[in-house]
Amino acid sequence: METTDAFIGLTCVDCGETFDADEGTHRCPDCGGILDPDYDYDEIDVSRADLESRPFETMWKYAELLPFTRESAVTMDEGATPLVECPNLAEEMGVGRVLFKDEGRNPTGTFKDRGQTMAVTAAAQHGATDIALASAGNAGQSAAAYAARADLESHVFLPTRAGFTNKAMVNVHGGDMTVVEGRIGDAGAAYADAMEEEDDWYSVKTFVTPYRHEGKKTMFYEIAEQMDWEVPDAIVYPTGGGVGLVGMHKAATEFRDLGLTDDLPSMYAAQATGCAPIVKAWDEGKDVHEAWETPDTICGGIEIPDPGASPLILDALRESDGGAVATSDEDILDSAVAVAQKEGLEMGATCAAAASGAWELAQQGEFGEDDTVVILNTGEGNKDDDVLRSHLMGMGI
Ligand SMILES: *Cc1c(COP(=O)(O)O)cnc(C)c1O
Ligand SMILES: [Zn+2]
Repeated sequence: METTDAFIGLTCVDCGETFDADEGTHRCPDCGGILDPDYDYDEIDVSRADLESRPFETMWKYAELLPFTRESAVTMDEGATPLVECPNLAEEMGVGRVLFKDEGRNPTGTFKDRGQTMAVTAAAQHGATDIALASAGNAGQSAAAYAARADLESHVFLPTRAGFTNKAMVNVHGGDMTVVEGRIGDAGAAYADAMEEEDDWYSVKTFVTPYRHEGKKTMFYEIAEQMDWEVPDAIVYPTGGGVGLVGMHKAATEFRDLGLTDDLPSMYAAQATGCAPIVKAWDEGKDVHEAWETPDTICGGIEIPDPGASPLILDALRESDGGAVATSDEDILDSAVAVAQKEGLEMGATCAAAASGAWELAQQGEFGEDDTVVILNTGEGNKDDDVLRSHLMGMGI
């Protein structure tokens, strides 16, 4: 495999066993735990000036801190997204600055591309011919795109309620799509059955491949560099499986330990009240979630009732002195419209849980008046134009 100098392999977050990247390809062979890429940080010799001297045009500029070399990557120059100032939101929330990390400007319109560039690169290096996953929608679209680029077959399992754009674009990329009646759990069950049958399918599913959260680390690297190496006080993230939150917290710890930044940002998990297993576990002081029995939210990307990485998410919230917040679908859709009208920026329904959560946290007095709050906009608004427009209709507009 064409790995970077510092990458030493994978560590199981449950049993602590370590594996070579050739032998541990997915979950821990010993106990089934999540594998986490590990580095010899003494091998990483990179300064602020080194990073600043490289053009800001792809997330692969941070390759020393990633498992694979830029030359070996299956990439479409994902990442390098803008961090947009939102003065009107800052004023309304009573904080110093609100910054909007706009992940809608990625190749397939969401931050899922940062995870798929990494996972599909791993698949290609492991010699896979076929990749497979179950997804609420955006990850499936992204996987189909990266598989196309790497000349692999993709097998994508989506629930009926996945967005039309997602389904259409899986077809357009030439993916093999199975639409399963029901919700993400039903799509997951159909995927699991198919994986039993198909020995040569390589999974790129959330926290089954060790590499998706690794790709999402780059969101934090970029935020730190875009803020001239100051760390924001808070990052509010619309949380489903927590891949991005866990990745950004890992990245913040790495940058701090390498001396590139001084602090950790407080990480906040924003969920919808109709499916908020992380918020419930956080409020009850638990280390692990309980599965949410009847998930029901219009925010499909975060309608994840049983997030297997909840211990990692809850650790990140605790270690970073952050928190968790849930708001209603009504408030979330109102927030998407408010951001579009006050700042011009477009957020999808799922993504707007972060804006709505930030508003709620501001109201609860969680932020100081000089704080810098980053709202992670995970995807573009016009994938959800129908949902947002019909919300206006519900208001008689
Ligand atoms: C997948 C997704 C999320 C949730 O991401 P996790 O890292 O799994 O918590 C949030 N927003 C959008 C738009 C998504 O597609
Ligand atoms: Zn293990």
